[in-house]
Amino acid sequence: MITVTKVSEWLDLRKQLQGKTIGLIPTMGHLHAGHMSLCERSKSENDLTVVSIFVNPAQFNQQGDFDNYPRTLAEDKKMLEDHGVQYLLLPTAEDMYPDNYEVKVSESIISAEMEGEYRPGHFDGMMTVVLKLLNLAQATRAYFGEKDYQQLLLIQKMAKAFFLATEIIGCKTMRADDDLALSSRNSRLSVEQRAKAAKFPAIMRRNLLVDDVIKQLNEEGFKVDYIADKWDRRLGAVWLGDVRLIDNIERQ
Ligand code: AMP
Repeated sequence: MITVTKVSEWLDLRKQLQGKTIGLIPTMGHLHAGHMSLCERSKSENDLTVVSIFVNPAQFNQQGDFDNYPRTLAEDKKMLEDHGVQYLLLPTAEDMYPDNYEVKVSESIISAEMEGEYRPGHFDGMMTVVLKLLNLAQATRAYFGEKDYQQLLLIQKMAKAFFLATEIIGCKTMRADDDLALSSRNSRLSVEQRAKAAKFPAIMRRNLLVDDVIKQLNEEGFKVDYIADKWDRRLGAVWLGDVRLIDNIERQ
């Protein structure tokens, strides 16, 4: 696997890859089987797979969350190599934001609620960095998880609005045996919190009204940011201690 840290180096390298189909998977690292499912999908559909790891300061609305975001580069590299990923992009914030984040992408409808309401500025930061990564990679396809469903819809909308050439592909959420959606943040849960966390998807799946779901989650000790039924899904965000979990499930 070739690791590239400088944007200028990547752009030189990219010129040599003309004629190949490329799959891009943007991540923030601390990789797990959810990320690997995106890599496997990309490998099956493209000549080359490019993974980026960039903990994007612009999409964190709390400094503590950015500081505490798990960073495990050595393990991540090993996992990507084991999965046959050919290129790893590891850009610096300086290279990604030559404009000091004075230029940004924003959307006004989908981003106004749920995650957008509870994490002001998050989606501007996310869309801006994804547009930068899509422009750098010039990929044939880019893969995103349904785990971050609002994010996926926003990226698809941005790609359409800006006539981006990359096809945006949504991939199913990978879950642990107890149904908790895999997430880099899960490793910040204590043993007791991790055991309790599985109640989040379990209660969301119950055939209850939103208010009753919130009530049951509260009774189990979750602090609920929101539960909402939208897009034939039930979406939610909760806190266990200082760890924030999000998930969504399809509704029949
Ligand atoms: P992150 O590193 O959390 O920014 O995630 C990078 C990409 O992996 C995003 O497109 C996520 O939606 C996706 N992803 C994260 N967790 C999962 C999961 N459990 N299953 C499938 N995709 C996931």
